[in-house]
Amino acid sequence: MEKKSENQQQKKLCKRCNQTYTPSSNTPSSCRFHPSFFVCRRHDDQKRYYELGPNDPPYAAKFYDCCGAEDPEASGCTTSLHVSYDDD
Ligand SMILES: [Zn+2]
Ligand SMILES: [Zn+2]
Repeated sequence: MEKKSENQQQKKLCKRCNQTYTPSSNTPSSCRFHPSFFVCRRHDDQKRYYELGPNDPPYAAKFYDCCGAEDPEASGCTTSLHVSYDDD
């Protein structure tokens, strides 16, 4: 008979946030991420997120498309389960 080693937690790498996690500690709030990309857009295209000041160059607006966070290091605006490369 084969025995599965259930004590041995295999660490997985989340393809969304690039953090390692163990499946047993994976909860719907484990993974913080931005569902959209960090983008750089013309003023005209992103008025709803960021008003450029008079001294800003026209392409200064950079932000996450999902939530408008202007810091690339900003923590994610959405939480979910981690998704490993093995899934889907
Ligand atoms: Zn976001
Ligand atoms: Zn994750």
